[in-house]
Amino acid sequence: MKALRIALIGYGRMGKMIERIALERGHTIAVVIDEGAQDGWTRVNGAGVDVAIEFTRPSVAFGNCVRCIDSGVPVVSGTTGWAEELKALRYKVAKEGGAGFCWASNFSIGVNLFMEINRKAAALMRKQPQYLTSITETHHIHKLDAPSGTAITLAEELLGERPDLEGWAVEGEATPGLIPIASIREGEVPGIHTVAYTSEVDSITLTHQAFKREGFALGAVIAAEYMAQHPQSTPTMADILASL
Ligand code: NAD
Repeated sequence: MKALRIALIGYGRMGKMIERIALERGHTIAVVIDEGAQDGWTRVNGAGVDVAIEFTRPSVAFGNCVRCIDSGVPVVSGTTGWAEELKALRYKVAKEGGAGFCWASNFSIGVNLFMEINRKAAALMRKQPQYLTSITETHHIHKLDAPSGTAITLAEELLGERPDLEGWAVEGEATPGLIPIASIREGEVPGIHTVAYTSEVDSITLTHQAFKREGFALGAVIAAEYMAQHPQSTPTMADILASL
């Protein structure tokens, strides 16, 4: 893999972690752009930048990605919470072409592998209705949303393989045919997700447990390495992992 020249857009918790992991993998941070340090934009075009990595805020992510794409620089964005503008960005790239982009709500390789295992397990369980399906997610006490976005994705992807099930619901409100999702908040837990299949005689549980946030940063750098090699593509994280 050739050493990349990366533009880092957003120099907060994720930006700093991405910088460390990118350097460890032999890449160079050619430009750093942050809220109070916008001059870097003038160098995104001229500094031989191969790829940009954007982890900022929902209100600015669309504009940042458009600036990269219009400069011919492919961009990896992990900023969450801008679903509507993201649709507009996908539309723009499909219509106008230019540099590509990769967005994922969760760049952790482990979570993306877990999602694949979840889809395969769900397909296997289609013919075993005696197993009741349930999901549990545990996170730190500061997390505001429940269920977590990852738990909802797990439920929706599982339902895609199980036309016999009707949907998901928060635990306590679930009725037969709905997958209950339980949310637990304790301490500083970075994130645990469990999908359980329970019959009268046994149970099968699949669990992903994050130990620290570095997993997201490593996944984003791996996505940037892919985008530098496929600068016009618009892959999902699953596409990138499948190509490794
Ligand atoms: P943070 O608040 O620590 O950092 C955000 C940074 O963006 C700050 O340094 C801020 O100054 C900067 N910023 C604000 N406006 C800017 C602008 N116009 N241009 C450039 N920089 C600007 O947040 P964080 O923990 O680093 O998370 C950033 C985003 O990434 C959040 O949306 C978070 O939900 C998301 N996130 C995604 C994943 C994933 O795997 N996809 C993982 C963790 C976090």
